[in-house]
Amino acid sequence: MGIIKLHDKYFKSYISEKKIAKAIKSLVKKVSEDCKDETPIFIGILNGSFMFVADFVREYKYNCEVSFVKLASYEGTNSTGKIKQLVGINENLEGRTVVILEDIIDTGNTLQEIYEIFKDKKVKQLKIATLFFKPDVFKKELPIDYIGISIPDKFIVGYGLDYDGIGRNLSSIYQITSKPTIKNILLFGPPGVGKGTQADILKAKYNLSHVSTGDVFRSHMKRETKLGILAKSYIDKGNLVPDDVTIKMLKTVVNKLPSSNGIIFDGFPRTKAQAIALDELLEEKGETIGGMLTIEVPTSLLIARLLERGKTSGRSDDQDENKILNRFNEYYTKTEILKEYYQAQNKYFGVDGVGEISEITKRLSDVFDNL
Ligand code: AMP
Repeated sequence: MGIIKLHDKYFKSYISEKKIAKAIKSLVKKVSEDCKDETPIFIGILNGSFMFVADFVREYKYNCEVSFVKLASYEGTNSTGKIKQLVGINENLEGRTVVILEDIIDTGNTLQEIYEIFKDKKVKQLKIATLFFKPDVFKKELPIDYIGISIPDKFIVGYGLDYDGIGRNLSSIYQITSKPTIKNILLFGPPGVGKGTQADILKAKYNLSHVSTGDVFRSHMKRETKLGILAKSYIDKGNLVPDDVTIKMLKTVVNKLPSSNGIIFDGFPRTKAQAIALDELLEEKGETIGGMLTIEVPTSLLIARLLERGKTSGRSDDQDENKILNRFNEYYTKTEILKEYYQAQNKYFGVDGVGEISEITKRLSDVFDNL
């Protein structure tokens, strides 16, 4: 899902679950060809390899044993200081075929230590399989028998690998990246909270682009395009325009935007399907949503505001209280659930929308500056 933040660092999507599964399949195929006539012991190196080992052995269709070890260091009494020891290996490995399963090999320092320890155990043969391999930094003479995916020397997390303790539970791999300079935001809230007004101010202040799906629909309606005629039949009743139509239109608009420091989405997404489509669109561009900034105003104030706006805006959906109420109904039944969607990603920010325009801009800016 685009860019994520773990502790103080940012990571971008790098290797998908599908690619990982494919690499594991091909590793298993090669190991099976070499080991199927005996019962090898697969030994995973903890902690990072737990996911890889689980998926690897699930794919391996012949007899095998599975064990895990951890390389622990303790203070020795001699002058060399730290002594490394393998914890967890109880099996007698004499005469056995041992395949070490590593999640990632970079310099090879840890592997070298493990390799030396295993060599003393009089095994029949010792093989090494790794899911990820960094050829640019590997400095040892050790033979790596099976390599899943070779990657450049950049820090990765996910699929068992951590950054300072977290990230192991991610099901795909993310690569470290710089803090995103592009800040895309969603300006959110029920009709009449002042999204358009604030979007215009923020747009100028931060050099952002502004996409208002309502404005785009109204422009099509004015020009009586095919899309405009279709949208009018929904908008006039205060209903949402169907997702497929809206998503298609949004993609066209976003792909034509000039470059800027980010995009303010105003009135989009309004449904979960739209939110997912937006994530996909931004991911293709290597970007993400920085935050959903919701302007909060009590509904009672909003109805009066919209009817007042209707006197000058010319918008048919601002002039009839029933249409306005239906727009609120659409918001509270279809759109408000998006709060949960963005809350789950720690991207939801509520901002008090009652007060002077400049006060509300200040509240929104404080959130924006810290995204
Ligand atoms: P707005 O100007 O954002 O209040 O939008 C006016 C009307 O346009 C809405 O009541 C909907 O009928 C339609 N509309 C705008 N954005 C969307 C969207 N993302 N999905 C579906 N309908 C939309």
